[in-house]
Amino acid sequence: MSELGLWFDPSKCLINGEWVAPAGGATLPLENPSTGERIGEIARGGPEDVEAALAAARAAYEGPWGKVTAAERGRILLKLRDLVLARVDDLARIEAMDVGKPLKQARADAVALARYCEFYGGAADKLHGETIPYLDGYTVYTLREPHGVTGHIVPWNYPMQIIGRSVGAALATGNACVLKPAEDACLTALAFADMAKEAGLPDGALNVVPGLGSEAGAALCSSPNVDHISFTGSVATGVHVQMAAAHHVIPVTLELGGKSPQVVFGDADLDAALPFLVNAGIQNAGQTCSASSRILVHRSVHDEVLARMAERYGALRVGPAMADLDVGPLISRKQHGLVSGFLSQGADLETAAQGLLQDAPAGGNYVQPTLFAGVKPDHALARDEIFGPVQVVIPFDDEEEAVAIANGTDYGLVASVWTRDGARQMRMAKKVRAGQVFINNYGAGGGVELPFGGRGKSGHGREKGFEAMYGFTTLKTVAAFHG
Ligand code: NAD
Repeated sequence: MSELGLWFDPSKCLINGEWVAPAGGATLPLENPSTGERIGEIARGGPEDVEAALAAARAAYEGPWGKVTAAERGRILLKLRDLVLARVDDLARIEAMDVGKPLKQARADAVALARYCEFYGGAADKLHGETIPYLDGYTVYTLREPHGVTGHIVPWNYPMQIIGRSVGAALATGNACVLKPAEDACLTALAFADMAKEAGLPDGALNVVPGLGSEAGAALCSSPNVDHISFTGSVATGVHVQMAAAHHVIPVTLELGGKSPQVVFGDADLDAALPFLVNAGIQNAGQTCSASSRILVHRSVHDEVLARMAERYGALRVGPAMADLDVGPLISRKQHGLVSGFLSQGADLETAAQGLLQDAPAGGNYVQPTLFAGVKPDHALARDEIFGPVQVVIPFDDEEEAVAIANGTDYGLVASVWTRDGARQMRMAKKVRAGQVFINNYGAGGGVELPFGGRGKSGHGREKGFEAMYGFTTLKTVAAFHG
C-alpha cells in the first residue's frame, strides 16, 4: 500500500467511528487499472457488517447526531470541506491509482467533493417548511424531516463526486448514513469517512462497508432497518435495488445510465461546440453516466463536424492515469471486455478516427477511443450505453427528425442543443426528454447547484442542488385547531 500513501487500512470497514475487520474476515483484491497489478486488498463486507453499520447509524440518529442543530451540521460539513481541500492531492493520487482516471480528472473530482461539502454545509440551515392558509381557526404548517437512516450505493466511475452529492445532502438534512462503495473503487469513500470523523461528525453518523454488490449491496437495500436508498449504477442493478426496497416500501432514488445526445444545427457556432462534442464523450474514458455518446448533426454541416471531430480524435493520447494524458484505462478487465464487445459490433461501420495508445502498460485496461460515422439511429452503438470512449455521429435533416432521434432510446439523462436560433433553443429544450438540457454548452461545468437525474431508464429522483435536500427529507403536515 505504500505507493498509495493511505493513512487508513482499506481491509477494514468504518462502523460507529471504529475501523473494524469484516465479520467474515474476508478481503477482495485491489488492482491498479493502469497496470493490472495487484496493489492491495480491501474489506469484503457482508450482511452482518451492513446490519452492524445500520444499527450504529440508527443509534446515532436517535442519539447524538439527531440532536445536532442544522447550523452545526452545516459547520461540520464546512470543516469537512476544508479537510478535503487540504488533501486534494492525496485524494487525487489515490483515486488515479484506484480508478485509473488521469490525475487532473481525479483532482477535479476531489475539488468537486469539497464543493459539495461547501454547498450542503451552507444549505443545511436554509431548508424549512411552509405555512398554509386554511380554514378559520386553524394554523397549518409543514416540517421537513430527515428519513432517518439512509443507504448509499455508489458506482466506481466518479466515487468522490457521487459521495459528495448523495452523502453530503443526506448529512446536511440530518440523516445518518451507511455507504456501500463499489468493489472496484472504495478507497476515497473510506478516506472521506475518516475525514468526516476528524471534522467532528459523531460516531455512527457515517459508516462505510466496502464489499461486493451481491453481498453488502444486496444486504443494504433489502434490510428492514434502512429508511431510504440512494442508488447510482446500472439499470439492471437499479431494478434489483428498487424491487428489494419495495418489500419494505421505502423511497429509492435511482441514478442510472444514459445515451445522451448533443444536437448540432446548421447555424451552430462550431468553434465553440467542437471541444464539448469530443470531451463529453471521452472524459473519464467515456465511463460517465452523462457521457455524450451520440452526436446528431444537421446534414448541412455533417461532413465538416465529422472531419473536425476526427482530427481531435487523432490527437487523443491514451495511457496510465499517472501520465495524466487525455484518456486513461477502463476500470477493469470486465469493463474492457464489455467495451471491446461493442467495438466489434461496429465492424460494419465507418470508423472516422481513433486515438493513440502511448506507453500503455500491457496489463492495463486500455481501449482506443473510437469515433464511428454513418451510424443509423437503430444500431446497437447508437442505442445502448457503451460506457467507454466511443461516440457515434448521426446525420439529420430537420428539427422534427432531430427530436425523434434524440428521444429514440430508453434513456433520458442529459442532452445539449447547439444553435444560434433562440426560438429553436426553447422548442428543443421543451421537446427533448432528459433531466438536464444544455443550450450551447454541455454539462455547464458540472455545477453542484444544478439538479440532476433521469427520465425513463435513466432513473428517477433528483440529486445535486437544493432539490436533493427535498429528496433526503420527508414532509410532515401539522394542522392545529385553536378556534
Ligand atoms: P453497478 O450497477 O454494477 O454497480 C453499482 C453499485 O451497485 C456498486 O456499488 C455495486 O457493488 C452495487 N451493486 C451491484 N449489485 C448489487 C445488488 N444486487 N444489490 C445492491 N447493490 C448492488 O454499476 P457500475 O458498473 O458500478 O456503474 C456503471 C453504471 O452506473 C452505468 O450504467 C452508469 O451509467 C451508471 N451511473 C449513473 C450515474 C448517474 O448519476 N445517473 C452516475 C454514475 C454511473
